[in-house]
Amino acid sequence: MNAVHKPGKPTKAELAAHDEAVATAGSKTAPRAIEPGFGGIIGQDQALNGLQSALLRNRLPHALLFNGPSGIGKATSAGVLTQALNCVKSGPGDACGTCSSCHKVERGLHPDVLWVAPHKGRIRLQQISPRKSDNSETAAPHEPIVNWVGYRPYEGNRRAVVIDDAHKMNPSAQNALLKTLEEPPQSSTLVLITPAPSSLLPTIRSRCQTLRFKPLELALMRRYLEKQLAMSAEEARLRSSLAPGSLGRAINLDLDAHEARRNVAEGALQDALQGGAALLTGAETLLAAGAGERKIDQASSAIDAVRDILHDLLVLAVGNQEEMVVNFDRANEWTAWASTLAPDDIVEALGTLQQADDRLRSPLQPNARLTIEQALIGVGSALRNKTAK
Ligand SMILES: [Zn+2]
Repeated sequence: MNAVHKPGKPTKAELAAHDEAVATAGSKTAPRAIEPGFGGIIGQDQALNGLQSALLRNRLPHALLFNGPSGIGKATSAGVLTQALNCVKSGPGDACGTCSSCHKVERGLHPDVLWVAPHKGRIRLQQISPRKSDNSETAAPHEPIVNWVGYRPYEGNRRAVVIDDAHKMNPSAQNALLKTLEEPPQSSTLVLITPAPSSLLPTIRSRCQTLRFKPLELALMRRYLEKQLAMSAEEARLRSSLAPGSLGRAINLDLDAHEARRNVAEGALQDALQGGAALLTGAETLLAAGAGERKIDQASSAIDAVRDILHDLLVLAVGNQEEMVVNFDRANEWTAWASTLAPDDIVEALGTLQQADDRLRSPLQPNARLTIEQALIGVGSALRNKTAK
């Protein structure tokens, strides 16, 4: 059917399929690295070497699954891949980032590249396959992505669909996608990105070649933040420690918010040590400083903040492990504080916090404020053990 049309001239049906696919997929583009091409992605050599070699040998699988924690370069890599597939300068093994094709991909305007992203937290059937035919219940549904990848590339070499946060596809969306995976069109590539592949149907997973992306090493992250983003050594270290393994989270971290939350948690911990009325005020302030929409989430995030401080106090109390301190900018002050505490008591306090966190996550809907108060009472009494003995 395609042969009767001039190359590059889309048919009406093709244009309609493209418009429908773009309109329903949800618009998104890949996050950018500082440098163009695969060279701009750090710490993922193993996954990317295999990918580049497949590109160069023209042996790229039709379906790929990028697996690994968030913020480590999966989506950026998928963006470079979709550029490399159509780059007119550096392709097929890499992307130049400067040619018109690479620019179009970067701006989400390339007619052969489609990103599907969650809408209000889910990828729904409508985004993969929007509506049934009007004629009959049993007629084949419209399948924008299935249709769209089936057409020959409009101006590049290969069509590419990237489904970001693929685990957020609901079961009917996953089933609709299976059709494309069962009979993948020749000149197409599908990339699923997810930190949680177990949420995908086994039949989807088995049809994809999985590429594992690893958490990044601390030293690598620090070097990148210092060299590429011109951060001070202190800021680079703090951000890397607060978001272990994830460059994306380290970059996006709101340090002011972190510091404010930490100050409140520190105050609450000191109130807990004092006990009495101070403790109750501390619990209330701590709960209010927690992040999240629901009270339970706020309480859980408040407990995290106290736990982070106790972790550092424990490291400092044991001594000789200062590189493990997360809030190293407070290390001097906290070393003095830690010297007044016994490591065993801190471990006991951490256990109390863990129990409170478990209670918060239980389906019994505990009272958030009461749980925080009880946790602080437990932490205070654990930390005072040493002086009581
Ligand atoms: Zn290019």
